[in-house]
Formats: sequence, structure tokens, C-alpha cells
Amino acid sequence: MILKVDKIKKYFPIKKGIFLLTAGHVRALEEVSFEINEGQTIGVVGESGCGKTTLGRVIAKVYDATSGKLFYNPPKEESVEIRWNTDKRILKNYRKDVQMIFQDPYNSLDPRMTIGDTLAEPLQVHRVCSSKKELNEMVSRLLLKVGLYPEYASRYPHEFSGGQRQRISIARAIALHPRMIICDEPTSALDVSVQSQIINLLKDLQKEFQMAYLFISHNLDVVYHVSDWIMVMYLGNVVEIATPEELFENPLHPYTSALMKAIPNWNPEERRLGETTLQGEPPSPIAPPPGCPFHTRCEFVMERCKVEKPLLTNISENRKVACHLRVP
Ligand code: SF4
Repeated sequence: MILKVDKIKKYFPIKKGIFLLTAGHVRALEEVSFEINEGQTIGVVGESGCGKTTLGRVIAKVYDATSGKLFYNPPKEESVEIRWNTDKRILKNYRKDVQMIFQDPYNSLDPRMTIGDTLAEPLQVHRVCSSKKELNEMVSRLLLKVGLYPEYASRYPHEFSGGQRQRISIARAIALHPRMIICDEPTSALDVSVQSQIINLLKDLQKEFQMAYLFISHNLDVVYHVSDWIMVMYLGNVVEIATPEELFENPLHPYTSALMKAIPNWNPEERRLGETTLQGEPPSPIAPPPGCPFHTRCEFVMERCKVEKPLLTNISENRKVACHLRVP
């Protein structure tokens, strides 16, 4: 196992007034737990604001968690808890092993740096090469690996298309042979024709290097094609975890089935228990509703749902769901 995420919460304080007193919190993540193994892809889906990007950034150590634990390499002897005050050397290695690809390939590359310098930077920071010649060869190999010509190393980001820039971002992410990559909506800013090329590139690289992916997307259809497991999030909570096949054959949480109804080709012959359509907007994460976080939009809501929060519960070997309909 590479990573164990244990009851991670992330609350962002809202500061007000000239003394910047804390007036409340944006509750972005509520006790999220899961594990990820070598070579595995966990897809994370949900509407914007559900906490999926925050989850990726907490794992990448862009943010510190408010509470909960992040274990790297459990249950091995060298297992270590990653915290804000973890030894700098361990954190540096963790950041080397856990990389991130961002949604917007336009903003994630420094416009003043050549592609060669962008790719060489992490190699230099981690002293991977012993000579300039070796560094240049490695940059060339990285460019070839993502389907670009080594001659592109002397060019600047503005000289490339969106798909090519995302390839460069991927080359930068794999430069240090990470064990895991957090892919935050890596295709959503790209043309549909380019999206599948980037997905195929990520799949090929995963096969070659056995990297794990946390694949964040609002698009359930994309996540279906890349994931071993899918985690559905709503208002900072994980509401369902299943394999793609089981999730698509039989979505158990009403929110999951509502997300599926938004997929153009998903057309079940008959409505099953718990299937619904999405109405209205999600509540504010500053003042989430009591009980089930989905109860304000769920057409199957019961009195119990308004006061008692359903726990994410194992209902079979491959399934977890948080809904009173499913877990009496
Ligand atoms: Fe709907 Fe109740 Fe299930 Fe929440 S717990 S999804 S409100 S049925």
C-alpha cells in the first residue's frame, strides 16, 4: 500500500473584520478515509465544490489537514505519518514520490522558462543527474516518453497547444519516478479529441511505471474508463465507493444515480430504488445541513435523514455506501 488516508478533515477559516477574527469555516472535507495501492487508480467524482480538489491538495501537501491522518507506506516498517511538522527530509522524499498534474495546462507551466528548463528543474533539485549531458539526455527521454520531440526543449509554453502542454506537465510529473500522481481534472480544459489521447498516455505510463493515480474529475464517464475504484463525493463527504462496473450497473446512493443520469448514453431500462435526478444547488459548505448532507436534494428523504448522518458502511466486499435507504 502507498497511502492510507484516515478520517481527513479540512476546514478553511473565514476571517472577518480588521482583527481578522474567525467568523466561521468552509467545511471542505469531512472525515475522508481510503487506501491506495501500487498501480491502482482511484477515481474521485462529484460536482464542483464537493471537496475533491481539496482532497488532492491535502494529499499533495499543498494544504495541511485540519485533523485526521495520512500514512505513507503503511503497514511497512518504514511507514510514516505525514504531518505539517514531519521531518523536512521525509517531506522532500514524499513530495518527490507524490506528484500532481493540474487542470489548466496554460497556467501550470512558467511562461518564462523553456520546456527543457521546466523539466530539468526537479531533476536538479533532487540531484538526479551528475552532469549537464546526463541532464539533457534525461529531458530528451522525458519528452519522447510523452510523445513530444526532444527538439521542443528549447521552446516556451506559449508555442504549444493545450494537449501538448498537458503532455509537458505529465513529463514534469514523472521526471522523478513518482509512486503516485494526483491528476486533478487533467483533461477537462482540453478539446474532446485530445482528451482520450491524454487518458491513453496516462494509462500507458501507469502500465510501464506501476504508478498509482488519484484521478479527480466531475465527469463520471471519464472516471469509469480509468479507475479501479470510484469514490463519489458530496459536500466534503464520501457517499459511495465501488468498482466502476458495480457502480454503473447498480448505483446505490441516490446522488450517484443522479450523477449517472447526467451521462448522455446512460439509459437504464427501468428505474431502480434510489434513482433520482439532481434538483437545485448543493448547500453551502459554510453551513452544511444536519443529518445526511444530501437530504435537501434527495427525493427519498425520510425524517431520520434530516437528523442522523448516515455512516459510510461496508455492504459487501467491494461496496461502501452512506445512505439510510441501504443501511437500515
Ligand atoms: Fe436520501 Fe436519506 Fe439516503 Fe440521504 S440518507 S441519500 S436523504 S435516503
